[in-house]
Amino acid sequence: MEVKSICPYCGCGCSMYIVVEDGIAKAIKPDNSDPVSSGLLCLRGFTAHEMVYSGRIRTPLVRREGDLVQSTFKEAYRVISEKLSGIDGERIAVTGNPHATNESNYVIQKFARAALRTNNIDTCARLCHAASCFSLTHTLGVSVMPHTLAELEQSDCILFVGTNPRSNYPAAFHRILMAKRNGAHIISIQPIFNSASQFATTFIKVNSGTHIYLINTILREIIKRGFEVDRGADNFSELVSVLEENTPERARDVCGCDREKLEEAIEAVGGSQRFSILYGMGMTQHSYGTHNALSCINLAMAKRGKVFPMRGRSNVQGAPDMGCDPSFTDNLTEDDKIRIEESWNMPLPKGIGRGITETAYDEDTCAFLLFGMNPAQSLPESGRVWRKLQDSFVVVVNSHFNKTCEFADVILPSCVWAEEEGTYTNAEGRVRRIHKALEPEGKPEWVMLCELSAYFGYDMHYSHIGEIQEEIRKIIPAYRDVSFIEEGFREKETRYRMYFPVQFRVVEDRRSPQFPFLLTTARSPVHFCTGEFSRNSRRLNKMEDVCMASLNPADAEEIGIGEGDTIRIVSSAGSIEVKARITAHVSRGTVVIPYHFSEVPVNSLIPLKLDPLTGTPNYKTVAVRVEKGG
Ligand code: SF4
Repeated sequence: MEVKSICPYCGCGCSMYIVVEDGIAKAIKPDNSDPVSSGLLCLRGFTAHEMVYSGRIRTPLVRREGDLVQSTFKEAYRVISEKLSGIDGERIAVTGNPHATNESNYVIQKFARAALRTNNIDTCARLCHAASCFSLTHTLGVSVMPHTLAELEQSDCILFVGTNPRSNYPAAFHRILMAKRNGAHIISIQPIFNSASQFATTFIKVNSGTHIYLINTILREIIKRGFEVDRGADNFSELVSVLEENTPERARDVCGCDREKLEEAIEAVGGSQRFSILYGMGMTQHSYGTHNALSCINLAMAKRGKVFPMRGRSNVQGAPDMGCDPSFTDNLTEDDKIRIEESWNMPLPKGIGRGITETAYDEDTCAFLLFGMNPAQSLPESGRVWRKLQDSFVVVVNSHFNKTCEFADVILPSCVWAEEEGTYTNAEGRVRRIHKALEPEGKPEWVMLCELSAYFGYDMHYSHIGEIQEEIRKIIPAYRDVSFIEEGFREKETRYRMYFPVQFRVVEDRRSPQFPFLLTTARSPVHFCTGEFSRNSRRLNKMEDVCMASLNPADAEEIGIGEGDTIRIVSSAGSIEVKARITAHVSRGTVVIPYHFSEVPVNSLIPLKLDPLTGTPNYKTVAVRVEKGG
């Protein structure tokens, strides 16, 4: 039997078939008719079935006298309701699950607001692309990528910045290669020569955290040199005056870039008729990540081009769309709010919603209900997060064990994508079906919450996802016209064109005699997020089972370390030990560490420095020192 589904890993959301024999998932086959991937799955997609059988949470667990012991759903619900019922909703933090379906995420936020009476409902989008949603909304009036990945192929110039699409978004990368084959000029701007950069026509190395200055310089120059640009979008004159300081000479000093390469990029972007820009977390994971994203959108808008913010997890677009976002109700009209209150038979909570990067550090927070999020590994200053979780009542609802489970008082097992029906919304806003191929180990989140809500005196009854989809169409404005049966798009028409001029001021963290290196966290080409899926894949784990910190050979020699030696990395927030990898691809004074390995808690090194517009942390430019360890 072959069951059509969507890849559970990244936001490209490639279509695939799960091959099932005797009730066991044996393999993944590509879908050659897929408009997203054209049948070209990456390694993560091809091995997606392997994580179904390893690291799973199989029964409810409840902590008794310090130990997590096997329990029943009924008993777990009773404990949760006893602990949470008397707590003011403002003191509870809830997260939606970007690997769960739209239907489950809708019910999660409804439960948070209607039963727990809190707007503190967020997702891990806070840690990656909240800046993109904010920026797109304030420039184009849409909170999703306005294009499709296939449109990349028509570009005559593609600039990718702060991302490695080859390793992180292979479905998009193959479109870039097709465009290149058709003659497109490909520009890569990165602080590290990554594996995608070897395919670039022009590669520009920049100092960590200074991309925005370079993007602004390209924009200033194409306007100044008289290339065709959109002068009709709102705020054009403000844009011109804000960019006045961004000369190529200053760019060379600020960004450390090669002047000739910069000229090549200016001429290629300026002369382009079908320009596209892609960016990733190298842009958004800064304390000025929203400004970084805005600089990319300004450039795309000036060229009447296309902008591709590359999203992380499979349903990280859909989960906030469904209302798992603390500002969800702020963006609704009064009519929308009345419709929700009538439909839910409950007034919306009044408090201002706070994101997970606020609640996890707030002394008032005393309970966490965590669907699919792993804050013990993913949040900055992990030591503070661990203490907070230790002192709070913590419920983890997940398909796989993770670091946060160590702090849980109750754990509930949820399904993986192959065990349930529903929809995901990919980075393009394409709403796609997943189908049940296997008997579930756990329960879908929406089923658990229908059962749990009764304990809170708020009854939610859905017998089928079709009933939830009907309610989503009524409640979520961007999904009013989505059929959920046939594949289609959530609303993605742009509503206006407004430049949002931004300027680079200063790198958030600088080298000093005490901390002479800059740390940037990064994805490995093999693993994914905090590793729950990829590290439970036999083949992926075989390819990479040790966390390695990458350093330049000259730095390694100076410190006196070799390949595979243990080193200690120290920042103002903490210290870790990790094995060293020596590579010339990393610049001097830089150290790069992947964040997928719970045994190497790299985020404990990250001081809590947030983007004031979105609450996204700076994970990309952190001053550290490197010492011999072991
Ligand atoms: S590109 Fe993303 S969605 Fe497509 S197969 Fe790879 S991990 Fe899955």
